[in-house]
Amino acid sequence: MAFTFIRPIPTPEEILRAHPLPAPLARRKAERDRAIIATLTGRRRLLVIIGPCSAHDEDAVLNYTERLARVQEEVADRLVLVPRIYTNKPRTTGEGYKGMVHQPHHRRAPNMAEGIVAIRRLHIRALQATGLSAADEMLYPGNYPYLADLLSYVAIGARSVENQLHRMTVSGLDVPVGMKNPTSGDLSVMFNSVRAAQIPHTFIYNGWEVATTGNPLAHVILRGAVDRYGLNIPNYHYEDLIRTAEMYRERPLRNPAIIVDTNHANSGRQHREQPRIAMEVMYSRRNSPLLASMVKGFLVESFLADGCQSSGGRTYGKSITDPCLGWPETRKLLLKIASLV
Ligand code: PEP
Ligand code: MN
Repeated sequence: MAFTFIRPIPTPEEILRAHPLPAPLARRKAERDRAIIATLTGRRRLLVIIGPCSAHDEDAVLNYTERLARVQEEVADRLVLVPRIYTNKPRTTGEGYKGMVHQPHHRRAPNMAEGIVAIRRLHIRALQATGLSAADEMLYPGNYPYLADLLSYVAIGARSVENQLHRMTVSGLDVPVGMKNPTSGDLSVMFNSVRAAQIPHTFIYNGWEVATTGNPLAHVILRGAVDRYGLNIPNYHYEDLIRTAEMYRERPLRNPAIIVDTNHANSGRQHREQPRIAMEVMYSRRNSPLLASMVKGFLVESFLADGCQSSGGRTYGKSITDPCLGWPETRKLLLKIASLV
C-alpha cells in the first residue's frame, strides 16, 4: 500500500464522549424525527430539505439556519423544514473542496481528525440555536456514527446510490433516507437501491459483523440526469413523476415517497430556476391524486447569498460548491410552496 498514515482518527465513542449531545437536545431531535417521519408517511404537510450545497462556514450556516427557523414558524401547519447541513461532498472529477469533514477551514489544509469534531459541533450548534435537526449526505458510511444522534434526514448521492455498503448501511438507519437517481438517470437502479435498503442485511461494518432489520423509510429523490453527451436531462416534469409513481406501485416497497431535487441536473445548475421547478411540481401534484399522495417534498440548494464562488472565496454566506438561491428568493419560495399545500 502506498498510503501515508497521517494520524489515527478517534472512534465514535471517543468523539461522542468528548462532544456529547445534551439531553434536552436529544429529546428535541427525537421530536423532530417523529414530525419528519409523519410528514413523509402522511398527507398533511410537505417536507423541504433546504440549505447550501456545502456547509463550509459555521457562522454563515448558523445565520442561515436561524432565518430558516423563523420561516418554519410561519409555515408550521404546511411545511416541515429540514436544514441541509452537508459536511461531506462527492466531487464529479474528485477535485476540489470535499467538505468540512476534510477541511474544517475551507482555505486551510485537510485535517479529518479536526473535521469530524467540526461537523459534530456545527450540527449540535445548529440544533441548539434553532431547534431544527438537520440533513446531511452519507458519503462515507463508516462515518455515520459520528452524527447518528444528530441527523433527522440522510441522503445517498447520485454517485453512491449503487454502492452495496451504502445500501446495507441505510438498512440499519432509523431515520428517513432519500436515495437519489444515479447520474445516468436510470430509475430502476434507484428503486433497486430503495429495495436493498428496506430489507435486512448481515455485513461487515466498522470492524464488526452486524445485522440490520431494513429501513422502511428509505425513499427516492429525483435529481435529473446526464446523457451520454454530458447534457442535463431533467426528471421533474409531469410524465417523469407519473412514471416514477407507477414504478413505485409495481414494487413491494414500503412508504412510497418522492422528493424532487430542484437543483443539480434538474435545473442544469441554473439555480434561479428552482422556484419555477418547485411551482411546476406543485401544479403536477394538483393535477394527479397519485402524485399528490406520493410527492412529499423538495430538496433545494439555497444560502444567504445568491450563486456561488471559487473554493477559496471570501464572500459571506455564498456557496463554494453548487450555485444556491439567495435568501430573499428562498423565503419567497418557501411561502409560495406553503400557500399551495
Ligand atoms: C448534492 O446534493 O449537493 C449532490 C452532490 O447531489 P448529487 O448526488 O445529486 O449530485
Ligand atoms: Mn449540490
